[in-house]
Amino acid sequence: MAIERTLTILKPDAVAAALTGTLLSRLEKAGLKIIGLKRLRLTPAQAEGFYHVHRQRPFFASLVKFMTEGPVVVAVLEGDSAIARLRELMGATDPAKAAASTIRKDFAASIERNAIHGSDAVETARFEIGFFFSGAELSQE
Ligand code: UDP
Ligand code: MG
Repeated sequence: MAIERTLTILKPDAVAAALTGTLLSRLEKAGLKIIGLKRLRLTPAQAEGFYHVHRQRPFFASLVKFMTEGPVVVAVLEGDSAIARLRELMGATDPAKAAASTIRKDFAASIERNAIHGSDAVETARFEIGFFFSGAELSQE
């Protein structure tokens, strides 16, 4: 297995519901090391830039509105197969289709308000980590 880095966002619904500690704890207990962490409120331009691959999708405007409605917590996670591991812990995009004991099954309200983001591949993880963190902000050990 390869050691990877991935980006997670605890979305505005999860932060507003005071789930920051619970969700970070789940990720840590699953073996994902938190090597970068910050809380911020996305501007519309930042949300549009982060989700630019979805700009043609019908849900894009609503997604940007949701992602900017309140603060988020962003973190860089490191570990064996961290990208796939995080996606597994998150569960399917639509909580109705998410497996039991996944974060989205347990905490998401809808396919849009689904509590957590996770990078989906090595290339997107690199883009998404660089979107929020400089190299100097990520702990080396
Ligand atoms: N989303 C939505 N409606 C949809 C699909 C996605 O509102 O039909 C939102 C949802 O918040 C999702 C995000 O857009 O997490 C990005 O979509 P993607 O397909 O990349 O899902 P993810 O990678 O987050 O599981
Ligand atoms: Mg995605």
